[in-house]
Amino acid sequence: MSSETFDNLFTPVQFLKGVGELRGERLNRIGIKRAVDLLFNFPRDYLDLTERVEVDQLNPDNIQTVVGTIETWESRATRRGKMQALFVDCVKGFVKAIWFNMPFVIRDFAPKRRVMLTGKPKFDHPYWVMMHPQITYLTDNDVDSETYSFLPIYPLTEGIKQHHLRKIMREMLPDYVSKLEEVFPSDFLIQHQLLPIAQAVKAIHFPANKQEIILAKRRFVYQELFILQLGLAIRRLQHRTKLKATPLYSNRDIDIKIRKRFPFQLTNSQENVIKEILNDMTQAVPMNRLLQGDVGSGKTVVAIYAMLVTVANGHQAVFMAPTEILARQHLRTINRMLEGSRVNVVSLLGGQRPAERAAVLQEITAGAANIIIGTQAIIYGEIPFHKLGLVIIDEQHKFGVMQRAVLKSNEKFDPHYLVMTATPIPRSVAMTVFGDLDVSVMHELPPGRQKVITYVSNPENRAKWWDFMARKIRENRWQAYIVVPLIEESENFDARSLNEVYEQLSNDAFAGFKIGILHGRMTTEDKDRIMFDFRTGEIEILIATTVIEVGVDVPNANLMTIESAERFGLSQLHQLRGRIGRGKKPGYCTVFTTNSNEESQKRLTAFAATSDGFKLAEEDLKIRGAGDLFGTQQHGIPPFKIADLVRDKEIVEEARKDAIEMVTSDPGLANPEHTKLRRQMLTRYGTVLNLGDVG
Ligand code: ADP
Ligand code: MG
Repeated sequence: MSSETFDNLFTPVQFLKGVGELRGERLNRIGIKRAVDLLFNFPRDYLDLTERVEVDQLNPDNIQTVVGTIETWESRATRRGKMQALFVDCVKGFVKAIWFNMPFVIRDFAPKRRVMLTGKPKFDHPYWVMMHPQITYLTDNDVDSETYSFLPIYPLTEGIKQHHLRKIMREMLPDYVSKLEEVFPSDFLIQHQLLPIAQAVKAIHFPANKQEIILAKRRFVYQELFILQLGLAIRRLQHRTKLKATPLYSNRDIDIKIRKRFPFQLTNSQENVIKEILNDMTQAVPMNRLLQGDVGSGKTVVAIYAMLVTVANGHQAVFMAPTEILARQHLRTINRMLEGSRVNVVSLLGGQRPAERAAVLQEITAGAANIIIGTQAIIYGEIPFHKLGLVIIDEQHKFGVMQRAVLKSNEKFDPHYLVMTATPIPRSVAMTVFGDLDVSVMHELPPGRQKVITYVSNPENRAKWWDFMARKIRENRWQAYIVVPLIEESENFDARSLNEVYEQLSNDAFAGFKIGILHGRMTTEDKDRIMFDFRTGEIEILIATTVIEVGVDVPNANLMTIESAERFGLSQLHQLRGRIGRGKKPGYCTVFTTNSNEESQKRLTAFAATSDGFKLAEEDLKIRGAGDLFGTQQHGIPPFKIADLVRDKEIVEEARKDAIEMVTSDPGLANPEHTKLRRQMLTRYGTVLNLGDVG
């Protein structure tokens, strides 16, 4: 092969200067295969060389950085373990660095080697000492060149060191960076204050100052978010122009009839959301709306309203829940409200006998069934609807843009589509993960909603809490949930299990009480029976896994214990707690944790202190990230490489606005200036967003 072959962006890394076969292989292992991969292998952080001080300026109070050359080293056994020390000549004096039991630290020592030490110094006559400082090996370039005041810190793989990679980058960057293509039109860059690509890549690896780091990051964060928003904007547009739905109308008569069925007045929030939904349903394009309302805000009634309007228009409505328990609860609620009406409500649930299921399907096909209730798992089969007008998905917080009404009754019309969730979704997430949905929010709770008093407690206080529970159950006839993260003990998790808790409590603190257990591995019939017994008060204490998390509504259950609470996310804890305080009395919730780790204590304290689901969701997002929280990876958009929905909130809004603007003026991105953006968007999101043939 001629050498010219190796000067493009796709040159295999092993052919780059300073890489070679072995390092090439190691880089390949972390997905760095071609020159371009190196350019986009961004540093995870930087060492700030501008903050280094001379030895005669050191002070004993702060963490500081010095640079020098290794003079000698020492290694010996002491009472505290293996001690290693380096003497570093920093021109204006020596610094002695000491480590205990960290043999790997000075594996790379060599006389005259340049190093940087960061730590808190102490003066121990006649020199400064740093205990366990951070050590960085420098090449001559690193310190002596005026150009570099920040050193990139790369995510590494075994066998490649920071200084190797820095050296490789310095060699290859100038040649290859100029070959990168700019995807943005040049006046767009200026207008939106974005660095051109070559400049941005250069700056992100070897910034001259802090400002350059910020600008370079901004360019890539913006680009990543903008490309997604382009896809979302096009998807919305396609949705509007390609999909057709049957408009469904309400009127005074229908409205009065429906309201008569409700045993209470609707809250203002419910009224507003119903207006938004009705407005969508009268359009000839399918409604595509997310209803977000805190636990207990009364989403079910809104769903029932929309379904009854659908039925009044001669169409069928489907109501899907994530669990059997919840599906059955909805079935009961609806049957109670519709008692004596002509609306025919059918259900598709696990555990139905084939003949029973066949009969239900027959009713659906014939159009005799008006409302169909079931779990998602069961309804997502091939169901031959007669005239499907509306699909409602309840408690769906783990989904992304991918999922869409795959249910249809005929080729021409799509049903209207409403998704409901109690998970408060921060705005930046709603705009990306759920970015192609219209969002309605219910902030208000129905009147009389009780608060839940929450305690964070240590295992030592269990006896006291069990006493309190026992008294409330005996004297007030209250009921209690005890939630555990696991069914059986596990070697891999240090957490309380259902079996263990049941054993202990049924023989001790709650001997003589009626205790039931509930978990996901039980059969449908068993789960049903347990929930029935709990609802009727036959069971006083329900020990359960998170199967009770979503939607379950038993007003007399006012007590909740959560074991190994550190195992749950904040939003999940909030959902769990939402199961109590549903009656006329405030609820009591105690969370136990065996984990004294500061982080988890902080989270649980935040949980106890606030009942605002939105605040808790923001916290959760900060801690766990959107991928984990909203299942973006499993269900839709690939994870972001550089953007962060918490940190980059403002850029999300900016990119969204700009993308909508571009798609409005150039719907197919047909303008030659937009060709590269279009290509990048399709490569990344074409399949995921099901964009088909754009333009
Ligand atoms: P979620 O939004 O968590 O699904 P639900 O729909 O289960 O909430 O409603 C919680 C409880 O509040 C139910 O018992 C329901 O009957 C009651 N409820 C709903 N709307 C109202 C209202 N407007 N006034 C009084 N109670 C209501
Ligand atoms: Mg609900």
